[in-house]
Amino acid sequence: MATILDGKKIAGMRLEILKEEIEDSGLFPRLATVIVGDDPASQMYIRMKHRACEQVGIGSIGTELAGDATTGQVIQAVANLNNDTDINGILIQLPLPKQIDSGRAVAAVHPKKDVDGFHPFNLGLLFSARPQFVPCTPKGIMTLLAEYNIQVAGTRAVVVGRSIDVGRPMAALFTNADATVTLCHSKTKNLAEEICRADILVSAVGKAHFITSEMVKRGAVVIDVGINQLNGRLVGDVDFAEVTSIASAITPVPGGVGPMTIATLMENTYRAASMRTCDTVW
Ligand code: NAP
Repeated sequence: MATILDGKKIAGMRLEILKEEIEDSGLFPRLATVIVGDDPASQMYIRMKHRACEQVGIGSIGTELAGDATTGQVIQAVANLNNDTDINGILIQLPLPKQIDSGRAVAAVHPKKDVDGFHPFNLGLLFSARPQFVPCTPKGIMTLLAEYNIQVAGTRAVVVGRSIDVGRPMAALFTNADATVTLCHSKTKNLAEEICRADILVSAVGKAHFITSEMVKRGAVVIDVGINQLNGRLVGDVDFAEVTSIASAITPVPGGVGPMTIATLMENTYRAASMRTCDTVW
């Protein structure tokens, strides 16, 4: 049976450590969130992020815009937060409603306050192997692998899904960590064959039970990013019950990648506050 990579436990431990670090630092980091509309899932994620801030001693404020807000209104809200010297980190809750140009909204965040790491400048640094702010989900996955002493260098890592928030930065992080990387997507031919070669498999597709046991190499490490509803239950992309007998290690859903994402956001926010104090030049 596979080792369960307990993201909930590791995230809890890291948040405890971070809380002490923040206390000792004398800093009072502050995160600002921006949400547009009243999508229940987005509202829930925002609440979880604000709760995590409270838990570790990070101040947080929320800006809520109406569901019919324009790109210009989002950019203006972000500009106000960029200019607010009390704010260290800015997070725009994605996805944004269709009428908003998400790329422009994300690019409006000052790179030094971009704790989500989605600004093209920060993504560019990551792809140049000089990372500053790295997207929280893939960074959280690297942390989880490190906490379980899972070696990445020299492995064949296969990432399924090429989104800006997960798949692409995940592939860059694996590349920077000396893995040999395959990035798959909906146009990949012979997907099952590609997946089968993975020593480390990350699935970020968003389809319940998309990864079955026949696709997974015996002994592979399986990281399930997906969050899907199936018969009223929260499940990942991976058929956990089947794959757990094939993999050497696997993340559960819930309780795997999700908590690591939030813990990493807190770490990035503290880092933003610390960098401002040190006046770091990139
Ligand atoms: P996304 O932007 O919708 O991207 C999905 C990716 O999956 C795309 O690259 C798409 O390929 C690929 N894909 C779709 N169908 C496929 C198929 N049949 N074969 C191969 N690839 C296929 O999603 P995302 O933002 O990365 O999120 C993915 C999942 O992770 C969602 O369930 C989301 O809720 C979850 N998520 C979880 C966390 C967390 O913290 N746990 C964080 C972020 C996201 P194309 O590019 O070709 O369309």
